[in-house]
Amino acid sequence: MFVFTRLPIKIVSCHLLCFIFLMSVPITAQAQWYQHSFEVMGTQAHVEFWLESETSEQVAIKEVPLAARNIIDSVVAEMQRIDQGMSPYKADSELSKLNRLAAMRPVVISPELFDLLKNAEKIAELSDGAFDITYASVGYQYDYRNKQKPSQAQIEQALPAINYRGIVLDQSNNSVRFNHPKIKIDLGGIAKGYAVKNCLALLKAAGVKHGLISAGGDTGLLGDRRGRPWLVGIKHPRAEQKNAVHLPLANEAISTSGDYERYFVEDGTRYHHIINPKTGKSAWQVVSVSVIGQDPTYVDALSTTIFVLGLERGMALINRLDDYEAIIIDNQQTLHFSQGLQQN
Ligand code: ADP
Ligand code: MG
Repeated sequence: MFVFTRLPIKIVSCHLLCFIFLMSVPITAQAQWYQHSFEVMGTQAHVEFWLESETSEQVAIKEVPLAARNIIDSVVAEMQRIDQGMSPYKADSELSKLNRLAAMRPVVISPELFDLLKNAEKIAELSDGAFDITYASVGYQYDYRNKQKPSQAQIEQALPAINYRGIVLDQSNNSVRFNHPKIKIDLGGIAKGYAVKNCLALLKAAGVKHGLISAGGDTGLLGDRRGRPWLVGIKHPRAEQKNAVHLPLANEAISTSGDYERYFVEDGTRYHHIINPKTGKSAWQVVSVSVIGQDPTYVDALSTTIFVLGLERGMALINRLDDYEAIIIDNQQTLHFSQGLQQN
């Protein structure tokens, strides 16, 4: 089922399900495949889809027909809309408003944000707080680009504000209140998956049957790639530009969380963007986690969750969930596969 590049990654416990894929798939073979890449949410996003054209003529890629152009525009607009509402870096986002006001009084929010907070709460409960959007009170003190990190004293001061139970959601009027004065929230571990989900729905509504949407490490697939699976690469965690694994997938979502996305190294320690809410420090047991499943929002949140939980507890959680599978690369660069990806 997988293609492995010749990299120093050991493979354990993987009597793999299917067959080995030896050929890679060309990116744009026919003219009716359309694709567009753009920057949003601090990352690279990509949309690609097949659109039946009325004629069988090959269409030059520059002459994108209106229907395809409209689909691309709607995807870009949807990603930008979600970024506008959920970015912690935009002072006028709904999320920033919550962070400013919800510790003082209940704040009424959009049903959309309310639902996402509910989903974040579900994953927090499921993982006993390994996934916790209130990690942000310490998370915002890290600045990876400028190699800044909080001191031990600053972490200890912030830890009491890290507790998802302090986010009080009132369904009766879609309001949110924080019950600790220092609670801050951040949706970086779930919002991109949600954006992918919405954009897949846009493709579907436009009649697309074969499509791919990605935002950073989150990818959603609609159908297959016309008779063959999509081939999704999982980045090699320590060799830029290379993939550790290729997965043939269709009609599924996959999300990868890695310690190589945003980080700096100081005195031999890697400080990166996935934070263990119990310690306020970067999780260190594994270096990459990919989760595969149907729902892009959950797949995104679960990859961050499993990363925090580490190999044993992370695998135990994913193996409890029938609809999700995981591929974990531990800090010895060994690959591990969840039960559903192994032969019985
Ligand atoms: P990426 O943002 O690179 O796609 P992930 O999906 O793994 O990677 O999400 C990492 C992001 O999740 C971080 O940048 C941060 O915004 C957020 N995050 C970090 N630690 C946690 C945590 N313990 N619980 C919830 N969200 C977290
Ligand atoms: Mg994630």
